[in-house]
Amino acid sequence: MSNSNPIKRRPCVAVRVGNVVVGGAAPIVVQSMTNTDTADEVATAVQVAELARAGSEIVRITVNTEEAAAAVPRIRDRLDAMGIDVPLVGDFHFNGHRLLQKHPACAEALAKLRINPGNVGRGKKRDPQFAAMIEVACRYDKPVRIGVNWGSLDQDLLARLMDENARLPQPREPIDVMREAVIQSALQSAAKAEQLGLPHDRIILSCKMSGVQDLIAVYRDLARRCDYPLHLGLTEAGMGSKGIVASTAALAVLLQEGIGDTIRISLTPEPGEPRTKEVVVAQEILQTMGLRAFMPLVTACPGCGRTSSTFFQELAERIQHYVREKMPEWRSRYPGVENMTLAVMGCVVNGPGESRHANIGISLPGTGEVPVAPVYVDGEKTVTLKGEHIAEEFQAIIDDYVRRKYGAAQAG
Ligand code: SF4
Repeated sequence: MSNSNPIKRRPCVAVRVGNVVVGGAAPIVVQSMTNTDTADEVATAVQVAELARAGSEIVRITVNTEEAAAAVPRIRDRLDAMGIDVPLVGDFHFNGHRLLQKHPACAEALAKLRINPGNVGRGKKRDPQFAAMIEVACRYDKPVRIGVNWGSLDQDLLARLMDENARLPQPREPIDVMREAVIQSALQSAAKAEQLGLPHDRIILSCKMSGVQDLIAVYRDLARRCDYPLHLGLTEAGMGSKGIVASTAALAVLLQEGIGDTIRISLTPEPGEPRTKEVVVAQEILQTMGLRAFMPLVTACPGCGRTSSTFFQELAERIQHYVREKMPEWRSRYPGVENMTLAVMGCVVNGPGESRHANIGISLPGTGEVPVAPVYVDGEKTVTLKGEHIAEEFQAIIDDYVRRKYGAAQAG
């Protein structure tokens, strides 16, 4: 079944972030953020490498102390030594101007600076501190993400807009004023950065909200009012299925409207869960929407009263896991393999049909069915598996198919 997406992306300028392009005609970029203490350069480099290997194309690290700023160039060196060329973004709040001025090697090692206009400094300090950071970005030719977060919104701006609203004959709802403040904070900061000399094509904007409807409303408006590339993400999305569902609900609506040039899923990892989960979720949102392909995805039926055992769930999980593990090798050896589709189905009701639509599908026997599992390759039934080793044999069929189909593409 075709999953190509006919959406038209919103036109915007292209911004180069290290070796990655965000915006323009570039594919939507997946990014993530570490949760290590950046001053711990070993732990941070290891986690950045894990995120990059999982598929994060840009990784952000917090730069909050002198020690963290001093560690950034060493983290870059460690990554380079590991052969990990993922661009690093520095996340700055309150003391960013001081850290960047005092640690030029930090500024140089970063591929982008993230500045939150609500956390640059209070009162009279705000403008000079913002200007100091933009000046560093200009000096080292680094792009900047003006990253507004409604939880740390510029309170002076919000108060001014609330006052103006209160004087209107028909005041708007406070939520609308708040959304407008978020947008104005981003646009005014971007305009100020350009006045200070930062080129138009060195700016990316984000306006992160924690409510799905707020995020959709703000980005729709922001997308109409500028041509900067937009970084999408629901902030404080939460843990487990709630975080995944809320992020997907918000981002899918915007992505379907062509809005969004890079995404980050702000998941709170469950205890023991790898940080890389947020990368997997971001990739799966883009891939299931037909916007990008990262790795073969396994279509599986949900199972029901006709499912004869848990074997079919175990096989679906095993195959998805196997594919994910093989992808680093497959990606370089077998171009195009990321588009391969697999199906693991629980019985004959939908099994053969769904299996025929996949590149490779298997239909396991349901309750009361003959204990055999027909395998379909490119729509044709090729073999029927049975016995103890169905999983291993199905895996071998996948390996063989990948070599034949995508190895040939490489040779050609
Ligand atoms: S394919 Fe069979 S086992 Fe799977 S959900 Fe449908 S009826 Fe149930």
